[in-house]
Amino acid sequence: MRIIFRSLSFLGFLFLSVASKGQLTSSDIFDGLKVTLCGTSSPLVAPGRAQACVAIETPGHLYIVDAGSGSAATATLARVPTAKLRGILLTHFHSDHISDIADFNLNSWVAGRPAPLQIIGPEGVERVVEGLNIAYELDSRYRVAHHGEELLDPILGVLQPRQITEGIILEEDGLRITAFEVSHPPIEPAFGYRFDYGGRSVVISGDSLVTDTIIEISDGADLVLHDAMSLQLVQTMENLASRTGNTRLATILHDIQDYHATNEDLQRVVAEADIGQLALYHLVPAPRNAMAVSTFTGLIPEGALITEDGMVISLPAGSEDINID
Ligand SMILES: [Zn+2]
Ligand SMILES: [Zn+2]
Repeated sequence: MRIIFRSLSFLGFLFLSVASKGQLTSSDIFDGLKVTLCGTSSPLVAPGRAQACVAIETPGHLYIVDAGSGSAATATLARVPTAKLRGILLTHFHSDHISDIADFNLNSWVAGRPAPLQIIGPEGVERVVEGLNIAYELDSRYRVAHHGEELLDPILGVLQPRQITEGIILEEDGLRITAFEVSHPPIEPAFGYRFDYGGRSVVISGDSLVTDTIIEISDGADLVLHDAMSLQLVQTMENLASRTGNTRLATILHDIQDYHATNEDLQRVVAEADIGQLALYHLVPAPRNAMAVSTFTGLIPEGALITEDGMVISLPAGSEDINID
């Protein structure tokens, strides 16, 4: 297993800039799983970080897992090719995972997505999609009236729900997606997803405590993206809120401590599962600067990666390399 950290060279940047204007995109020439972090934060806002969102790309597919606030803009800035977006997989329906669905729908519709956008998730997804389609019906009508049906086919602007249960939910052109149940009480069910393509694999926990199922499905995976909460930092914030009389904030900071993976839980993941790279996202609290990152890093398993918005982790097909840009 080789883990390579890279930053985009000037030539690479130039290539991507040119490619994004022409027919060729970087994804056309990369065979493997390409993972772009389009949101690494949680409901506690942090500058420079959108809420939960991960884009998973192969040469023929693009799926997004969750679409928290700010993530559609972050995905655009990270040059995620939304014209080929097939679906958004929702882990659950907390607002920090669904706020930007409509923006992804509009952006991909305008970019030329050839089929309606599927919104895939556990029971409840039909209700969420019905509400969004109603809320954005007028917006869609204005866009079509302004740009014409030839550019914006009205059918392609309507979200399509797909309710799923645990297990393999998709197998197409070499990509397999498996949904598994996670623990995020009181939300039931909440899902995580595993992607397999070209002999490579990515597991995304969504919001969850560390469970036996997560350990099992992560075993042998190249990359595991896991929810992470620094219990020490959250408890410190709770104490400060209490001492300054902000009891509402103190209550919320207390309540969130029992449904995200803590540093100690994450130690269990690396101890019991054979993983190429553990990377942490949906950070609670999301570090705002280098000092906060180093405080967070000091408490997590050795070698675990704190992700940032715009970070790309590539797993070339038929290889053992993990490239982090
Ligand atoms: Zn949640
Ligand atoms: Zn969340």
